[in-house]
Amino acid sequence: MEERLKKLNGASENLSGKYVLYCMEASQREEFNHALEFAVMMANRYKKPLVVAFFITDRYKFSNARYYRFMLEGILKTKKQITQRGIKFLIRKKTFVEGCMELSKSAVLVVCDKNYLRTQRRWREKLANLLDIPVYVVESDVVVPISLVSDKSIPYAFMYRKKLEGLLENFLKPVERIDPLVRSDHMDLEGLDTEKVDDLLDLLQIDKSVSTVERFYEGGTDQAKRRLRDFIENKLPHYKEKRNDPAYEMTSDLSPYLHFGQVSPIYVALEVLKFYPADDPNVQAFFNELIIWRELARNFCWYNPFYNSYEGLPRWAKETLEDHTKDPREHIYTIEELEFAKTHDPYWNSAQKELLKKGKIHTYMRMYWAKRLIEWTSHPKDAFDIACYLNDKYALDGRDPNGYSSISWCFGNFDRPWPERKVMGKVRYMSPKSLKERFDMSAYIRRVEEL
Ligand SMILES: Cc1cc2nc3c(=O)[nH]c(=O)nc-3n(C[C@H](O)[C@H](O)[C@H](O)COP(=O)(O)OP(=O)(O)OC[C@H]3O[C@@H](n4cnc5c(N)ncnc54)[C@H](O)[C@@H]3O)c2cc1C
Repeated sequence: MEERLKKLNGASENLSGKYVLYCMEASQREEFNHALEFAVMMANRYKKPLVVAFFITDRYKFSNARYYRFMLEGILKTKKQITQRGIKFLIRKKTFVEGCMELSKSAVLVVCDKNYLRTQRRWREKLANLLDIPVYVVESDVVVPISLVSDKSIPYAFMYRKKLEGLLENFLKPVERIDPLVRSDHMDLEGLDTEKVDDLLDLLQIDKSVSTVERFYEGGTDQAKRRLRDFIENKLPHYKEKRNDPAYEMTSDLSPYLHFGQVSPIYVALEVLKFYPADDPNVQAFFNELIIWRELARNFCWYNPFYNSYEGLPRWAKETLEDHTKDPREHIYTIEELEFAKTHDPYWNSAQKELLKKGKIHTYMRMYWAKRLIEWTSHPKDAFDIACYLNDKYALDGRDPNGYSSISWCFGNFDRPWPERKVMGKVRYMSPKSLKERFDMSAYIRRVEEL
């Protein structure tokens, strides 16, 4: 546990506080949650009850019905599971900092989970600065804590893989559940008392123009586990060969669940290992994404302050892209034409329609989708911003380190220079021609049309 833990300030516990407070934000689950178990442990140490709080607000950018519905479906299930352990779970309509500040007035200490993104990271730092009780951050959404792996940005996946060697087995371990010594579920603290997602959604002035996607995804740890079972039984044996083929859906589809912390990557990996050996090529290919690339993305966002902008790209990539900004573009599209899938390219339009309708583009098409934007904008900086904007707005798993690192990959990051060509320079190119040659693209288009 110590490796996952950081105390953000030098304050001492308020021993006359009424409870230990866990402000849940990134790890939105009861199971395999180190932050929750650490909070129970601290509550037991001080013989106090534990209160877990979750805050909802419409004051954040991209607060929309699509992701809020999914998130709240998950949170209400988490609330139930935590309450069943005798622990009070409060939902309040507040910003994270306001909500934590309010509840921390009666707290012994505060526990937060770790988030790698700038804004959420600042919330925790602000709390630590404002409060005169300890604020702990516990890293529960990666297998190996990222600062243990490195204290700087790692430029390539193979380097991250190498650094994880020898560390992984120490961290691929179940998270022990600790019983609370003092029950808190009957404490008289005011929260939004409903079991209905719609009641909570009605309280928020969120963007309803982004449609909900409950036809495809229901939030919650139970749903993540159901998908994982299906993946292990039916898809994992074909993962290496078929994951990139847009005619198939052969990946786990767990990214929305991982994004909201509704399932732990440790749980996912351990379940897979119950059925297959670690050296199975499909398991290796899956862990390469689930652990290496996913944790590299967190390393990237933690150590690169420009993770979600063109400025964050490696120098060679910016130089080569800029060498080609004067190259004539065959098509330049407005953001509206792109947003509503009105380009000349049927493959790209299908990917964008998949994003609009389902909230998630096929893994391989995501790369094609972002790279094409470089060809269709007058400067790669615009392409980068549009990719982030559309992904953050519509993708159920958007606003995630994976999205920023992957968009950045499409612009050359974590990759090597390739033979130079117009517009793309030395950044790896993906063409509609090769899509057509490699895959049954009409099957993909048909699948998207039928959504
Ligand atoms: C332009 C672009 C945008 C993307 N945006 C997002 C995003 O917003 N959120 C997101 O989670 N992923 C994003 N990805 C990465 C990847 O495409 C998705 O994680 C994957 O499609 C999710 O589907 P899955 O859960 O079935 O993946 P699986 O193949 O089953 O992989 C399991 C898990 O590994 C992780 N993973 C897979 N591929 C990557 C990757 N390349 N980098 C980091 N982690 C990975 C994800 O958490 C995923 O759920 C993006 C990729 C590109 C090229």
